[in-house]
Amino acid sequence: MATKEYTVEDKLRGLQHLQDLCSKLDEITILKGELPMEVSDLEDEIAGLETRTGKLQAELDNFDADMAEKRNGIKDAEAMIKKYNEQLNNVKNNREYEALNKEIEMQQLEIQLTQKRMRDAENDVESKRAYLDEAKTAIATKKEELEAKKNELDKIIKETEKEEKKIIKELDKAHEAVDERLLKAFNRIRKSYRNGLAVVTISRDSCGGCFSGIPPQRKLEIRSRKKIIVCEHCGRILVDEVIAGVEEEVEA
Ligand SMILES: [Zn+2]
Repeated sequence: MATKEYTVEDKLRGLQHLQDLCSKLDEITILKGELPMEVSDLEDEIAGLETRTGKLQAELDNFDADMAEKRNGIKDAEAMIKKYNEQLNNVKNNREYEALNKEIEMQQLEIQLTQKRMRDAENDVESKRAYLDEAKTAIATKKEELEAKKNELDKIIKETEKEEKKIIKELDKAHEAVDERLLKAFNRIRKSYRNGLAVVTISRDSCGGCFSGIPPQRKLEIRSRKKIIVCEHCGRILVDEVIAGVEEEVEA
């Protein structure tokens, strides 16, 4: 396929067309507003909370098993004490009696120690349980919020996606007349302004982007469409009113 040669005027018209399409896309983006960001932020937050609560839940599950083990330990010790007490009734000498008493004392100490450990652990998980409850409530609330925002966004997407697709298709065509270098400049200028305007027209003898004055000689140059002219102040590409579509072409 042979590449078509484009005149400066073709390029200017191409740029204006590109600008119009991009502005339409910007309008759709404005309509969606902060919703896409809010949705992804909420999704991240929920994922983070779920990871944390999952870990905490595992810890608490271990805690229950650990406490059950400690309770069993106490039961064993109590059984031992009972057994030693029975043996005390049949002791044959003082030495045996003292040995049994010592064993009983050891088991009682063991029970006390285990009970203290259980109390400490109980206090420790208390705060973890409280946090887990809070986090679970927060997750539920955030999920509701996410659902609402998603629905809102889906509605806008449904309403605009047809138009958006059409614009994107047209954009491909609009690129044809605009060469690579110009397209890069266009995108760079567009990005540097909040309103996304890279192509503007003359408005009351001024740049339609930054409103600084345009001298008559420059206006003539813009209208001759022989050169791509950018505003000396803001760097935006300037096109005449006809190309901008605000005035009808007048035959000389
Ligand atoms: Zn300007």
